[in-house]
Amino acid sequence: MFLMTLCKQYLLAIKNLVIPFFCTYCRVMIDQNYPLCEKCIGRMRPVASVSLRISKKKVMPVFAVSTYEAPLRSLVQSKKYGNRLASRQLGVIIWEQTALSHMLFDIIVPIPLHWTRYAQRGFNQAEEIAFEISKKSGKPIIPLLERSKKTIFQVGLSRQERSENVKDVFILSKKAFLYAGQRIVFVDDVMTTGATLYAASRAVGVLKPTQVMAAVACRVINS
Ligand SMILES: [Zn+2]
Repeated sequence: MFLMTLCKQYLLAIKNLVIPFFCTYCRVMIDQNYPLCEKCIGRMRPVASVSLRISKKKVMPVFAVSTYEAPLRSLVQSKKYGNRLASRQLGVIIWEQTALSHMLFDIIVPIPLHWTRYAQRGFNQAEEIAFEISKKSGKPIIPLLERSKKTIFQVGLSRQERSENVKDVFILSKKAFLYAGQRIVFVDDVMTTGATLYAASRAVGVLKPTQVMAAVACRVINS
C-alpha cells in the first residue's frame, strides 16, 4: 500500500515536472489544473442559494460556493497581498461549484471597487472572478456600474448602517443604455448582508433587465 502511494506520488511528481499543479490553499501537489485539492474541496461548507428581494415583484437569486470560512476565505483575503491568481481561481470555483453554469444570462457585471482601493490593490477581485466566468461561459463582461461615492468600510456596521452606507452608491456607466433588457449576472467575492448587491440591482433598474442574478464565492452566515 505504502509502495503504491509512493509510486503514485512519484508518477505525479514526474508529470508535474512538465506542468506543476498545486492546491492554492494547502499547496499539496495535485494531478489536475484545478485551484483546490479534493481534501480542501471537502472542507468547504456549502451554502444554499438565496433570493434577495429587489422590488415588489422581483427577486434576485444569489449563487454562492461556501460560507466565509477556510479554505475560500483565504483565497478572498489574498487580494490584500495582490494575489490576482487566487482571485481568478475563485471564478473557476464559482463556475464549477454553483448552479450558475446552468443559468441563462447575457452579460457579466463585476461589482466595482472604489478607485482609491483599486489604486491600493491594483486590481478588483470581482473583475478577476468575472474574467474567468466570462472565459467559461463565453459571455462578455460589461462594466455597467461605477461607484458614485466612497463607501466606508462595511466591517463593524449594523445591517441598517450597511444598507444606508451603500444606498445610491452606484451609478450607471456612460454606455449602459446599450444594454437594456438583458439578463444580468453580478459578480462579487463576498456577500455579507446583500446591501451592495441590492444597491447594484437598484442602479440597473432603469435598464429594465429581463433577469438579475448574482454569483459570489462566499456568503456570510450570521449564526
Ligand atoms: Zn488543498
